[in-house]
Amino acid sequence: KPLIFWFRRDLRLHDHPGLAAAVATGRPIVPLFILDESFETLGAAPKWRLGAGLAAFAARLARAGAPLILRRGPARAVLEALIAETGAEAVFWSRLYDAPARARDTEIKSALKSAGIAAQSFPGFLLHEPLVIETKTGGPYKVYTPYWRAVRDRDPGAEAPEIHELRPASLDIQSDNLEDWRLGAAMNRGAAVLAKHARPGEAAALDRLAAFLVGPVEAYAERRDFPAEPATSRLSEHLTLGEISPRRIWHAGRARMIAGAPGAETFLKELVWREFAWHLFFHFPAMDRESWRPEWASFEWQGESPVAEAWRRGQTGEPFVDAALRELFATGFIHNRARMVAASYLTKHLRTDWRIGLAWFAECLIDWDPASNAMGWQWVAGSGPDAAPYFRIFNPDGQAEKFDPKGTYRRKFMYEATPVPSLAQDFLDAAPRAWGLAPGGARPRPLVGLAAGREAALAAYQAWRAGS
Ligand code: FAD
Repeated sequence: KPLIFWFRRDLRLHDHPGLAAAVATGRPIVPLFILDESFETLGAAPKWRLGAGLAAFAARLARAGAPLILRRGPARAVLEALIAETGAEAVFWSRLYDAPARARDTEIKSALKSAGIAAQSFPGFLLHEPLVIETKTGGPYKVYTPYWRAVRDRDPGAEAPEIHELRPASLDIQSDNLEDWRLGAAMNRGAAVLAKHARPGEAAALDRLAAFLVGPVEAYAERRDFPAEPATSRLSEHLTLGEISPRRIWHAGRARMIAGAPGAETFLKELVWREFAWHLFFHFPAMDRESWRPEWASFEWQGESPVAEAWRRGQTGEPFVDAALRELFATGFIHNRARMVAASYLTKHLRTDWRIGLAWFAECLIDWDPASNAMGWQWVAGSGPDAAPYFRIFNPDGQAEKFDPKGTYRRKFMYEATPVPSLAQDFLDAAPRAWGLAPGGARPRPLVGLAAGREAALAAYQAWRAGS
């Protein structure tokens, strides 16, 4: 009797505890992916990236011997139908930690169990599951450094054995066509551009890890803040779909640390920021909607406005901020330093609600991760745990001088230059025609003077403090 493996954000065959356990049962495996309602709210770029990731993973599974079955509909109904069709007696999956997925999975697990099906879930998306890490008094961590100290010497365990071959069910099981799901439809003009920049799949992820660990990791601590340089791992687009195991990254990174690679520990610390984000999101599931610090509920953020729209389009007149937003729209990625500067400009100089920025990132990032995105925005806005205080306002020019001293990053996205740099051309190619952008021409005028924007932000903050 076959076992259904329900894949979600775990599109890999290496270090996959659930799949290894499934294979160990000796049963034939039916690999399944369900496009259920949880994907309806996915932004255009993450949805496109999911499609690309699924195509790569389906090819990988086909080589391993068992084709990926694609089905659409409410997860429980799809599973029950497939159980009836195949006679499967077990369903396994890897756990997710956002509240809607947990509620869905809990309900499905109990329904399957009452129907006599062995429903089992496994870890694998994180190094340590959120509930496992606790403070001495038994609660969640709210500050990063003690969290890091708690996990730094904690062994996430040995890797699960790599799967090379899957025993398929000898049944003719219907699958949807991936193309029919049209996961890239909302991208319009941008899909072809994104395809130039994304590197979907497990093999690309493992290549990137290997390439990073033999080179850039050495200087990571000094160079990771310079957006023009290929100094970071670029693993985020893979981690969000589980194309790489965080435990694989951890062990490989630690081995480099022990061998004396100077940047390896800093790199591991960054990986642990992702863990921390999920720890926070698990314990505060409204983190993507509500200020983590309740007093911030009364701060008078600006709502939707023409300046917010100009920010989204990379037309603020601040070259560093515009480069970040153009990078986002063209490539589906922004360098971390540029994310912080763009987010700070929106929430401070434009005093615009961080949720407006969060939603735009969720629409455009191929590495979109609900926990890291929410933590990042609340960190910059000042409303999060362990956040930068609101009055610490990044000066985009100062940041540019420090982290892009030769203007290389800014120039890459300047379609106002002649000849138009290739990434700037990508931005023009991806941008909706309605934005009316054309090569050459004058650069946008600043939406607000840097000093005036800063003062207005500080005044709003003081007024709020005085009134709250
Ligand atoms: P590296 O520097 O090579 O780091 C390795 C890994 O560590 C990353 O892949 C990532 O998984 C993790 N990591 C590094 N920095 C952070 C961080 N600050 N927070 C959480 N995890 C981190 N990251 C996402 O993956 N998805 C998001 O949607 C996202 N939104 C963000 C929004 C804002 C406003 C900010 C300030 C940051 C956001 N980040 C997000 C975090 C960070 O910018 C990216 O993880 C990082 O730029 C990815 O590049 P990399 O893989 O080359 O990182």
